[in-house]
Amino acid sequence: MFEGNEMSGLRSALEEWAAQDLSEVGLDELADDLVELELTSGLLESERARRLSQFDSVAGPGRQGYPSLTAFLIHRCRMAAGRARRLVGLAHTAARCPSVQQAWTDQRISTDQAHRLLETSDAAPGPFGDAEARLVGIIEPLTASETRRALQYWHQSVAGGDESELEHEARRGLSLSRTIDGMGRLDGWTTPSAYESLRAMFDALMPPPTQGDIRTARQRRHDALEDLARDYLDRGDVRQVGGERPHVNVIADLEALQGIAGGRHEFGSGEVVTVQTLRTLACDSSVSRIVLGPKSEVIDVGRRTRVIPAALRRAIIARDRHCTWRGCDRGPRWCDVHHLTHWADGGGTEPDNLALLCRYHHTLTHRAQGSNRGPPVRS
Ligand SMILES: [Zn+2]
Ligand SMILES: [Zn+2]
Repeated sequence: MFEGNEMSGLRSALEEWAAQDLSEVGLDELADDLVELELTSGLLESERARRLSQFDSVAGPGRQGYPSLTAFLIHRCRMAAGRARRLVGLAHTAARCPSVQQAWTDQRISTDQAHRLLETSDAAPGPFGDAEARLVGIIEPLTASETRRALQYWHQSVAGGDESELEHEARRGLSLSRTIDGMGRLDGWTTPSAYESLRAMFDALMPPPTQGDIRTARQRRHDALEDLARDYLDRGDVRQVGGERPHVNVIADLEALQGIAGGRHEFGSGEVVTVQTLRTLACDSSVSRIVLGPKSEVIDVGRRTRVIPAALRRAIIARDRHCTWRGCDRGPRWCDVHHLTHWADGGGTEPDNLALLCRYHHTLTHRAQGSNRGPPVRS
């Protein structure tokens, strides 16, 4: 039935599927198809792992002119480097775990269960080798999340609770650095308990997206973390040495704030900030700002002048109650008081010119209104 490469038979079967008019496929059949697709993709993945490891073991990449198996995947399969490395790692681990590989190919365990087993094998290769067949038998009837828990218990029992805790303690860490284009980079590892706290915090800080919110979950998590930092700096009982509250500072010429080229626009740290970000940050006074006049004289030191008086802020909060972007109900704690006409352009700090906007919609508003003169959408 197959001509040439047997894989091409599989491909043409899939092409037949792709040509099918799905509106004519019944619900039960669709459901069965989805299960079948997952099983097939699991089979394909286990088969790829098996062939990758065989190809590598006979020095295939070198004989085909590639320095490594990873390089082969990157060039021949146009794969991203990270995924290529993960697949190679997986294939090598799977080659050391015959019982897992067999159960995966026989579809006695799902792909995710196979991945969990292989991860566990990487974490404790010695003990895993002795227990492999038994572990596969234990997790066969389990769900994916039960599998994860069962393997964690097993791993703790062999690694010794103290030892793995010590290892977690040693591995924990976060790094925060700035890249050349001004973006920051945050990455690291958390202990299991810190992870639980962080996850609960993000769950609480990330309300379900409102209609029209096109941010990804990653982006919303990022924004939630920024909100939290701003909230902490604004309200937290934090003091730096010398009694000053730490804050995001911006230093700018009035010209820069008005969007006139050539002005100075920097964070207090000396990093250059875009004019648009500057205008957004300076719009509400919750960020300290120092604005320099034409002769570099200080004409506005954030909190002392032009600050939105507490009573006025309370009045705006009582009036708007939440972000005024249509459909958004982020509470005042996470909102800026936005000047409809920017104060740098002569807009007054008075109720008619002010509106609550959450940080996300505040940024969107300034981006959409380069000149910052249109009103935000009121709910
Ligand atoms: Zn604003
Ligand atoms: Zn909003």
